[in-house]
Amino acid sequence: MTTRGAATERPPANAVAQVRLLVIFGTRPEAVKLAPVVRALQASPLFAPVVCSTGQHKEMLEQMLDAMHLVPDYQLGLMRDRQALSSLTSLAVSGLSEIIRAERPTAVVVQGDTTTCLCGALAAFYAGVPVAHVEAGLRSGCLDSPFPEELNRRLVAQMTRWHFAPTQGAASNLRREGIDAASVAVTGNTGIDNLRWVLDSGLGSSRFRTGLRRVLVTLHRRENQGETMRGLAGAIRELAARGDVEVLLPLHKSSSVRDAIVPVLRDAPNVTLTDPLGYFEFTGSLASADLVLTDSGGVQEEAPSLGKPVLVLRETTERPEAIAAGAARLVGTSADAVYQAAARLLDDSDAYAAMAQAVSPFGDGHAAPRIVSRLAAELAPSTPAGPGPNPLPHLASAHYIYRPLRAAIYRRGYRLTVPMSA
Ligand code: UDP
Repeated sequence: MTTRGAATERPPANAVAQVRLLVIFGTRPEAVKLAPVVRALQASPLFAPVVCSTGQHKEMLEQMLDAMHLVPDYQLGLMRDRQALSSLTSLAVSGLSEIIRAERPTAVVVQGDTTTCLCGALAAFYAGVPVAHVEAGLRSGCLDSPFPEELNRRLVAQMTRWHFAPTQGAASNLRREGIDAASVAVTGNTGIDNLRWVLDSGLGSSRFRTGLRRVLVTLHRRENQGETMRGLAGAIRELAARGDVEVLLPLHKSSSVRDAIVPVLRDAPNVTLTDPLGYFEFTGSLASADLVLTDSGGVQEEAPSLGKPVLVLRETTERPEAIAAGAARLVGTSADAVYQAAARLLDDSDAYAAMAQAVSPFGDGHAAPRIVSRLAAELAPSTPAGPGPNPLPHLASAHYIYRPLRAAIYRRGYRLTVPMSA
């Protein structure tokens, strides 16, 4: 069902014509990574963001929206247990098309690689509305891993007007595929904006309970589910059986994930299985962990930003930057390899220190203002707004301002309050 919430008050009309942007998400990671973008759009009198959730995730998304104080204007509520991708896709495209017809946005903003992201871009494309893609250009190079995300990303790139790549590597991927370099901006990852916001505000709290070495584990990827995930759970059980580690494993809501993990780890000593942690508790636990084992995309970015060594439990990754930097290792999905790699980091302090000291490649926590300043430069009405307050005051404190926008601000006679980097 589509609901139109009353919770998001549109800012009053002012001297500057408002540019309506439809921001679409449906899962926990999209909410994490779009929340800073929505905050920056809301802070700008130039933009009137309309927020839409497909509800591809349910509880995990609601938990995140509560933490972020993010209230969707529209909720499609599409999530069903063990839902087929084809049914989710068709429902999302038609539901989102209806919303685009009703709202007539100037542009649509999507994030990442989910089915929601693909369907948002497709619905916008069908309606002739330009697409801004946050976290563009990630590629594993393997069409069915991660499945279906790698295909989603490649398709979304074909429909996107503004590609916001988190790293130079992601931007290069897009250029290699023939995407016009002028439509690509390297911004850093907005997930790091949120992580810094939470930890700098002192909101994080850890769920680890003992003085043992702390190992945080998350597993959910479709291509790991079934036998592979049961094997990985076995490796974690063996690791905990060493007796010197505390394992914390917040379980994804997916029934297939639970079917694989719970029977193996339910009674394992030194292992805590929990429901998904709230974002503040998860990031607080991450900040206090010694080692991270994950197949998550977002956690692969967050852990290196906090100097936590990460073992990536996958055969491929679209985030090779952390591996190149030495902050992460792609260890694959064989139980024995995972156990050996984790045990080595716990036992070899030099190997541990080398990973913990690597520099994170995923950005400085100011990605969202860069994205909003670029969109403002592209979408601001070209005629001067006349006398009135600086229409872009939030940008005055941004650490980076897209050069053409800076020129436009100066042409209008406004001055920025802090010196800008090039
Ligand atoms: N996360 C959370 N609680 C948890 C596990 C993860 O809040 O119990 C957050 C985590 O901080 C990260 C995001 O969820 O920002 C990652 O989501 P997920 O691993 O489901 O998706 P992916 O990043 O692989 O697409």
